[in-house]
Amino acid sequence: MGRPLEAFRLGDPKGVTVVVIGVIHGNEDAGLLITDQLLEMDVPRGINLWVVPTVNPDGTALNQRGNANSVDLNRNFPYNWAKMGKPGYWQYAGAKRASEPETKAVVAFMREIKPALGIWYHQDLNMISPGEGLEGTMRNAYSRLTGIPIKRITGGRYTGVAATWQRNTIKNGMAFVVELGETLNTAQAKVHSSAVLNISMLLRDAPSSKLGQ
Ligand SMILES: [Zn+2]
Repeated sequence: MGRPLEAFRLGDPKGVTVVVIGVIHGNEDAGLLITDQLLEMDVPRGINLWVVPTVNPDGTALNQRGNANSVDLNRNFPYNWAKMGKPGYWQYAGAKRASEPETKAVVAFMREIKPALGIWYHQDLNMISPGEGLEGTMRNAYSRLTGIPIKRITGGRYTGVAATWQRNTIKNGMAFVVELGETLNTAQAKVHSSAVLNISMLLRDAPSSKLGQ
């Protein structure tokens, strides 16, 4: 609908690149509180932080899961994409992979900034899936700092997911989803925005052999 996707860069342009996405499902917008806070915080040295409040500005404005075409953007990414549903289905994956302007924009943006880590907020399962290696360490640290438990999602079929695309497409790129709870107040958001900076420092200080460029 012509709304821009906005990305704000903070901190050290030569530092380790971390990207935080507040919203992809427009009716799961608690992450905006976290991205708003990050925009006001001092970024520690050695961290190049990109803050993207929403990659679904139309869905966010309309308070609906999908974009203005009612496509579930988190089923539309061009890695492990599969047809899912028809227009009107809540997880409609679009007519083809990366059919949506938002998906194309995010793909181009991520290819340009090549983040070492991406954090994607959703609601409201209150969980983080377990991971392996350094990414698992990041997930565990985020869980410990925020109290969001590490749990494995059971059931469901997840295709065309943005974080999965990022992890498998961006060289040495890690990414994970944080499922927030039903609500998030300012004090809780502060715990999350601080956790983002804390795990960014952990990543910055990790042995360089484990990192990308
Ligand atoms: Zn979601």
